[in-house]
Amino acid sequence: MTLPSFLNWIDEERDQMIGTVRTWSHVNSGSFHLAGLEKMATLLAEAFSATGGDVQLLPSDQMPKISEKGEKQHQETGKILKISMRPDANRRVLLCGHMDTVFPETSPFQECTDLGDGRLKGPGVADMKGGLMVILTALRAFEKSSHHTQIGWDVIINADEEIGSFGSRKILTDHAKNADLGLVYEPALADGTLAGARKGSGNFSLIVKGKAAHAGRDHHLGRNAIASLAHAITQLDRLTAGRPDLTVNVGHISGGGALNVVPDLAICRLNVRIKAPEDQTWFLNQVKSIETELNNKDGITAEFHGEFTRPPKPMTKPLEQVFDLLKSCGSDLGIEISQKPTGGCCDGNNLAAAGLPNIDTLGVRGANIHSDQEYMIMDSLTERAKLTALLLHKLASGEASFPERETVQ
Ligand SMILES: [Zn+2]
Repeated sequence: MTLPSFLNWIDEERDQMIGTVRTWSHVNSGSFHLAGLEKMATLLAEAFSATGGDVQLLPSDQMPKISEKGEKQHQETGKILKISMRPDANRRVLLCGHMDTVFPETSPFQECTDLGDGRLKGPGVADMKGGLMVILTALRAFEKSSHHTQIGWDVIINADEEIGSFGSRKILTDHAKNADLGLVYEPALADGTLAGARKGSGNFSLIVKGKAAHAGRDHHLGRNAIASLAHAITQLDRLTAGRPDLTVNVGHISGGGALNVVPDLAICRLNVRIKAPEDQTWFLNQVKSIETELNNKDGITAEFHGEFTRPPKPMTKPLEQVFDLLKSCGSDLGIEISQKPTGGCCDGNNLAAAGLPNIDTLGVRGANIHSDQEYMIMDSLTERAKLTALLLHKLASGEASFPERETVQ
């Protein structure tokens, strides 16, 4: 087929795309660095105004957390950027990205380096500032398509994806309910492989309280919270074998203090990954019985907090249909499209749970994300922007049709 000529414009943008991703990468926007996130949001708002869409900055909800003292607190998260075009269009596409990175304000990894072989190393270049550039360029190109008026689009860029999207979950879900297709810009693997089915995930804390006492004089009067928690941790750890592909990772423990005091507080924090939606209930029931067992101990109280914030994203018929469509766009552009399941999860899980079929690794090709060796392949900026622009063009022209919505669990 002859490719629509507006795609050629994307090639002309290459140098500018790389330059802007470098600028964005140099702004530290760690999930907890609110000032950095604000700066990033301002830069993105300016850049996305070039699409002609309506740009808004929306507040996010506060995220619950358990303090080191076992108290319930709330954490503020960064604002959400929303850009909308043609709000009255019958067919809508939702494009999602995140501006936060895993690198805190104090991280030593703050600069970009051109590795000289077509790769650019830098914080967030792949995950996902490169992906945000793909969205921006694809939309600017699509607005040059002769069919662009046929569909509307919304871009949501949140600031707390790397910490579970608690503060942006409601906005994502609301928009997912009103869209016909979701596109998320997490990085593809370096060879271009995309993520298909994804596991679900939840973070939890178990707080155990005992009774403090002098370790020498009154040891018998104390109730050791650490000892009780230690037993519970081995029980939690064993749940990994309990269901196919379910994993429990106890990732952090805290508690106690002076060695001559029986500790009255111990907390463990864990991440749980599940494959099937039914695993949620199974896990929560198991934990309930561990909690009850602790509470039945003399002088010990236990509380379990947390939830599954990202339900599993299975491979479904509608999702297969979207992959087929993407494959056809890929073959027009000479890009091979393949996918495989992953244990990782992202906002694509939440969009799917709200019934929106979505492909969630449409960003740049890259690797070593979440480490100081993170890189993106610079050629993939234009390559992936063309892929999205062509996909939107095919949907708008009627050459391709939108998928059915998913059945909501
Ligand atoms: Zn990401």
